[in-house]
Amino acid sequence: MADQSAALGEVLVSAEAIARRVAELGREISADYRGGTPHLIGVLKGAWIFMADLIRHFEIDVTVDFLSIASYGDETESTGEVKITKDLDVGIEGRDVLIVEDILDTGRTFQYLSNVLLAHQPRSLKLAALLDKRSRRIIPVQADYVGFEIPDAFVVGYGLDYAQKYRELPEVRVLRSP
Ligand code: 5GP
Repeated sequence: MADQSAALGEVLVSAEAIARRVAELGREISADYRGGTPHLIGVLKGAWIFMADLIRHFEIDVTVDFLSIASYGDETESTGEVKITKDLDVGIEGRDVLIVEDILDTGRTFQYLSNVLLAHQPRSLKLAALLDKRSRRIIPVQADYVGFEIPDAFVVGYGLDYAQKYRELPEVRVLRSP
């Protein structure tokens, strides 16, 4: 832990606040999809911890898959130029798809992903994002389910990384200096 202390700034969302909100979202999503079986697509690697916690609060059947993407941009700014490095395992035609993302920032990644997924003709396509940096939006997209709106800061923890580090933190913290 000693080498983390200089790089990590304030706690923006505590582990307790995350647990409460994720449970609420699980119940809300279950109510919205009642009678159906949504197909959750987690965007690796950032969304894996959020998705694992989220589905444990579902009160309906759910199926899951994962997409892995790599951004061509630098490490703290997405360019929206995304390459799929792990494709879906099962088809989504006719399914109620819910993309699960760690964070919605400029909106470019979601725009790219939704275009790719819509081409496979799901019955519906929605987005759940743990974090939303609304003030940074360049593409006018909105998540259907948002855990927390946060200010414009680069954050790590609860699955989110900087250079593959800090995913293990139970809370979301500002990265002060890489
Ligand atoms: P967008 O394409 O919406 O600008 O960015 C979405 C992606 O950029 C996220 O899925 C995430 O990988 C990355 N990203 C954006 N903001 C942050 C941040 O504050 N921290 C981390 N770790 N990743 C971020």
